[in-house]
Amino acid sequence: MRTAPTILHLDMDAFYASAEQASKPSLRGKAVVVGGLGPRGVVATASYEARAFGVHSAMPMAQARRLAPNAAYLTPRFTFYRAISDQVMGLLRDLSPLVEPLSLDEAFVDLEAGDAAWDEASARLVGVRLRADIRAVTALTGSVGLAASKMLAKIASEQAKPDGLALIDPGTERELLGPMSVRILPGVGPATGDHLRRAGITTVEEIVEAGEDEVVRLLGKAHGHGLYAMALARDDRAVVAERDTKSVSVEDTYDVDIHDRVRVRMEVRRLADRCVRRLRGAGLSGRTIVLKVRRYDFSTLTRSETLRGPTDDPAVVREAAGRLLEAVDTTGGVRLLGVGVSGLADYTQEDLFAQAAGEPELVEEETVDAEVPVVEAGAGAVAERQWRAGHDVRHAEYGHGWVQGSGLGRVTVRFERPDDVGPGRVRTFRTDDPGLEPAEPLPLVSGAVRG
Ligand SMILES: [Mg+2]
Repeated sequence: MRTAPTILHLDMDAFYASAEQASKPSLRGKAVVVGGLGPRGVVATASYEARAFGVHSAMPMAQARRLAPNAAYLTPRFTFYRAISDQVMGLLRDLSPLVEPLSLDEAFVDLEAGDAAWDEASARLVGVRLRADIRAVTALTGSVGLAASKMLAKIASEQAKPDGLALIDPGTERELLGPMSVRILPGVGPATGDHLRRAGITTVEEIVEAGEDEVVRLLGKAHGHGLYAMALARDDRAVVAERDTKSVSVEDTYDVDIHDRVRVRMEVRRLADRCVRRLRGAGLSGRTIVLKVRRYDFSTLTRSETLRGPTDDPAVVREAAGRLLEAVDTTGGVRLLGVGVSGLADYTQEDLFAQAAGEPELVEEETVDAEVPVVEAGAGAVAERQWRAGHDVRHAEYGHGWVQGSGLGRVTVRFERPDDVGPGRVRTFRTDDPGLEPAEPLPLVSGAVRG
């Protein structure tokens, strides 16, 4: 593990809700809830003012409405959020080539890889400047965590929220983690948390005390070893620029064709081990083991086997690759061998127990994205134009505004722009008013140019 806090985790504060507040002056300082407004909708993001009422992301919308009946309820404008996200990710990519986005508003950055920081002082300075740049370019706030590993950087940004920066000094990680709930560790969702609690383990320190063997017995190999290492604050996962990596593989070309079957088997085992090291280095596991063999005549074969669940266990990968090899004729000689793992799962993002039990895992804010069921309350009124709450409109006479609500043939619009100081005026129209049309969102910072 590195010795300087040069892994940065950025998390925008209440991203969708903050973007709506910045966009709509009348909502600043108010409870705002963004999500699916239909009967089965869930909260994607709640503003901090709405959180004070107990509303949080992934909560059923009906429950949110009971807790905060006077909040503004808006359907998400993903195109708008994505445009802001692109600006933020652009600022991160100015710092380093190694930027790993986790969602529209969250990413890891390896500052060392970009020579942006090399010690505590330089890392802190980068974090301070980044927050200022984000505010200047997007008008929004983001929180920054800095640490020597991804896990701790993410914990730091959580501690920094809202609108702050936190740095965890290398060497203090275990002390910090010890008293924290096991739920702070990546991969521990509600189901795994319950499983551990039934075994009397609620804090990170208790995982350490239980010992690795016990944790593996409770959670299985793939999950147990990784979790125990995290509890010891050992997290060597690299910041990976390509989130959509489809497979991890290694291969060797031989100067002289290999004829000896025993040697071929040995090479395959060696490649399997190397492949697993790479897989683990990226914090991944996978379900499909692939063997590649190029024979003396340049004919290339690939054989694969798919396991029941994802693995990063070298023994499992070795055995599978070995089985695949047994079905390949190599008598003429082998020029190249390769072993790969695909069907990747990020074990740090997943709650394996929840999966196994078939329980619906609560969606995190970042994963809601395309899945928020956007069903309009007034959808039954056929042939009526749809005016979605929160979306932009333009009126021939009154200019730019947004839909505050609609129903019974009427649509209420508030006419205001992001650069207005105070709330704008509200007017109600017939839903088929010829002067009213949908519009593109206005930029939050007028004339903002990067660089
Ligand atoms: Mg966020």
